[in-house]
Amino acid sequence: NDNSENYKFVRINENLNPNNKPYEKKVKATFVTLARNSDLHGLLEPIKAIEDRFNKNFHYDWVFLNDVEFDEDFKRITSSLISGNTKYGVIPKEHWSVPSWIDEEKATNARKKMEEDGVIYGGSLPYRHMCRFESGFFYRHPLLDEYEYYWRIEPDVKFHCDINYDIFQFMKDNNKKYGFTISIHEYEATIKTLWNTTLEFIDKNPEFLAKDNMLDFISDDDGTSYNNCHFWSNFEIASLDLWRGEAYSKYFDYLDKKGGFFYERWGDAPVHSIAAALFLNRDEIHHFYDVGYYHGPFHACPVDDQIRFENRCACSPNQDFTWQGFSCTTKYYNVNRLQKPHGWQKYAN
Ligand code: GDP
Ligand code: MN
Repeated sequence: NDNSENYKFVRINENLNPNNKPYEKKVKATFVTLARNSDLHGLLEPIKAIEDRFNKNFHYDWVFLNDVEFDEDFKRITSSLISGNTKYGVIPKEHWSVPSWIDEEKATNARKKMEEDGVIYGGSLPYRHMCRFESGFFYRHPLLDEYEYYWRIEPDVKFHCDINYDIFQFMKDNNKKYGFTISIHEYEATIKTLWNTTLEFIDKNPEFLAKDNMLDFISDDDGTSYNNCHFWSNFEIASLDLWRGEAYSKYFDYLDKKGGFFYERWGDAPVHSIAAALFLNRDEIHHFYDVGYYHGPFHACPVDDQIRFENRCACSPNQDFTWQGFSCTTKYYNVNRLQKPHGWQKYAN
């Protein structure tokens, strides 16, 4: 990190509303958004919703990361909307490029083939940089060094409900390391060898398996195959130490050396989810059933009337994806023996 200063631009917010109730920020936590300059307009609604429904009471920081410099408009407009400090970082080149051990011809052919097969983002190299970066590098950016937890936010998402408690404090107080809203099945074509590679890694490093891990969420046959269930990582509230730790560091390096981020199209969602399911105990993972959320094309809208009323949710439970067939959240509740919300069956088709 010799030249880490090159990757930072920080704005300290000195205009915190003096009428706000005094607050005590106990948790070192931040929002984090990977974005292009052209994502600015797609970020305005999500930022405004987060501020209005949550952050106006807490003033958590917000870190923006980009593979090129953010422009002045991006910094000026986002910092004017956010009530905490805002920080803008450039991603080091080696975290956003094809590593030396990748056979470029093989990677190019793989992209061509996936494009022809109609796999979503199958032909895209930038998308692969994005997935690799979100899998193994965002938490190593120097701007994140001072934080313990993060909340990932993407452009064009929606937050349907108020969040009237300090969600980071909740994570800390309840020893939660990974929180999600939507879970879903991955497209098999993008991760053909991810599970076998994971099994090889576990075979060599069995000590990293948590005692009460959640293998039963990601495999229906006791680990022989992956059922493609994963947490949708466009929303994540998680502990940075989960990724900084030895288990995940070694796991990511193992995957990265195998080249599946380029020869296939391994996503950060299945990579993070498999790691969380194997390296954490099941009670360290949390479903935020009370956070109304939308990332195209799926909504999470609490089906429990009381939760919607108490939190001023602006969504219809008829749109809720949580209990539907392509979601994995019913399985999540079943394997963990959690009580499903009142009336969930009505929305399970
Ligand atoms: P999807 O949700 O899988 O359809 O992928 P998105 O297009 O939403 O990308 C995921 C996240 O990465 C979003 O926060 C994007 O703004 C960001 N992103 C995607 N591609 C790039 C890129 O080439 N450069 C930068 N800086 N950010 C990117
Ligand atoms: Mn997205």
